[in-house]
Amino acid sequence: MQSITTIADLRRRVSLWRQAGERIALVPTMGNLHAGHLQLVETARRQANHVVVSIFVNPMQFSDASGGDFEHYPRTFEVDQKKLMESGVDLLFFPAQEEMYPAGFKNVTRVMVPGISDILCGVFRPSHFVGVATVVAKFFNMVQPDVAVFGEKDYQQLLVIRRFTEELCFPVEIIGVPTVREADGLAMSSRNQYLSAEERQRAAALYRTLQTAKERLISGEGDIAAIESDAEKTLREAGFCPEYFTVCRADDLQPATTADTALVILTATWLGETRLIDNIQLRRHGAAPA
Ligand code: AMP
Repeated sequence: MQSITTIADLRRRVSLWRQAGERIALVPTMGNLHAGHLQLVETARRQANHVVVSIFVNPMQFSDASGGDFEHYPRTFEVDQKKLMESGVDLLFFPAQEEMYPAGFKNVTRVMVPGISDILCGVFRPSHFVGVATVVAKFFNMVQPDVAVFGEKDYQQLLVIRRFTEELCFPVEIIGVPTVREADGLAMSSRNQYLSAEERQRAAALYRTLQTAKERLISGEGDIAAIESDAEKTLREAGFCPEYFTVCRADDLQPATTADTALVILTATWLGETRLIDNIQLRRHGAAPA
């Protein structure tokens, strides 16, 4: 595996593969890799001849890039590099901030995906998805992959990426990978390490609450608002501070009605100082009227 830091080197490397007619897969990450990220790599390997992984903690998608969450985001490059080498990755792209945003990132061209970016997490992190869409679009132009692999863990992000890829006509196939979980159901996340031992134990209630809501919907219960408010109450009683717990249509994240069959339940919640997100998808038939 080659580790490179400049866009020029990256382009040189991938153009050789492209000239040879080989397929390229891209897996963008912010590093601090866990089994969830490695599952994306595994999927990418099945899709292409060559896998490029990027590690870049993107300041544009943090609300306070000069401190807080961005500064404290875990950076574990050497360990990540070793994991990727062992996973059969061909190229690791690890650019500095100046390489990605030579003119800074405050007044640069950006990619906005209206509507879908303004709901759910977008309400609580207003510029987050602009930062995500912009950096992913830049990676698409740098690598020009045939496929790019993302986690369903960040379900709203996945839909934002699918939207701009289609609307800006990037010739990239977007693949979503189901969420990889710890044994107790907690979705793997770089942010889980912020949890105290006691919070970590309690965190498993998040997935249990999603599952309970899913079972109620599948059993045909029609009062979606009651299912959402019961779940929020359960989370509050377990010590969480939920931002939202919502049942949506899976394809566009509009509020679900009893007529919809492909659904996703999404939640974002604080547990102490840590913000956790998770979701669960389901299909249901024959819901009773509310
Ligand atoms: P991040 O490094 O957190 O920006 O995540 C990089 C990619 O890994 C994104 O596409 C995430 O959706 C995906 N990802 C993060 N956690 C998981 C997980 N537990 N299971 C599957 N994919 C994940």
